[in-house]
Amino acid sequence: MRILVSNDDGIFSPGLTALAEVASQFGEVVIFAPDFEQSAVGHAITIQRPLNYHPVKMIKGIEAYRVNGTPADCVAMGLYHLGGADLVLSGINLGSNLGSDIWHSGTIAAAKQGVLLGVQAIAFSQVLNGAEPTYQKQKPYIADVIQMLIDGDQPRLVNVNLPNDPQGIRWAYQSVRQYNGKVVKSQDPLGRQHYWFSAIPLTEPDENSDRWAVDNGFVSLTPLRLSLTDDEWLVKLSNNSE
Ligand code: MN
Repeated sequence: MRILVSNDDGIFSPGLTALAEVASQFGEVVIFAPDFEQSAVGHAITIQRPLNYHPVKMIKGIEAYRVNGTPADCVAMGLYHLGGADLVLSGINLGSNLGSDIWHSGTIAAAKQGVLLGVQAIAFSQVLNGAEPTYQKQKPYIADVIQMLIDGDQPRLVNVNLPNDPQGIRWAYQSVRQYNGKVVKSQDPLGRQHYWFSAIPLTEPDENSDRWAVDNGFVSLTPLRLSLTDDEWLVKLSNNSE
């Protein structure tokens, strides 16, 4: 099995190394990752300038390349270089990607790019608790998730979030209700005004949502689809116009 590993935190992220190490239990692994951090760039692709990729020193014995592009570019470059792959893995992101984070996440976009190009993909993100992540408790769960998802009839795109102390695995839905996009005004050292945009959850998570699962110590798995069509509305509107 040939596995392409990417991320949005950049080629030097410890989460990337941890994921590639687990992936190497399942087959031949090659890393293509951005040459600097690209968190929250979503599914951007680079079209105004050329892309290139260069080998970097092997990461834990794994072939690795840095790309001067976005996470989605990295997956496109990697699949081009390899002539395809059986699985795309993205992460482990330094921080969770729950609920509405899915819209902004470069980690999930890298996985999504794999699926767009015809390859099954899994995105991994881990809750940050202020300390340096070690991944020791998470690695067996990551292996279990990969094993489960490459086995038979499984979703093509799955978003996985890992808590700090995992106690089990749960399928969960994307928690989209509680979103507070806030612009925070501040000043730079020269007294000039500047702004930070931050998105934080507003209320307690609903049971069985991804946020709830991770808050309760579960590794949350959410199957995602590429179609954004609101099927309910489409049916309703199509019937009305008949
Ligand atoms: Mn990131």
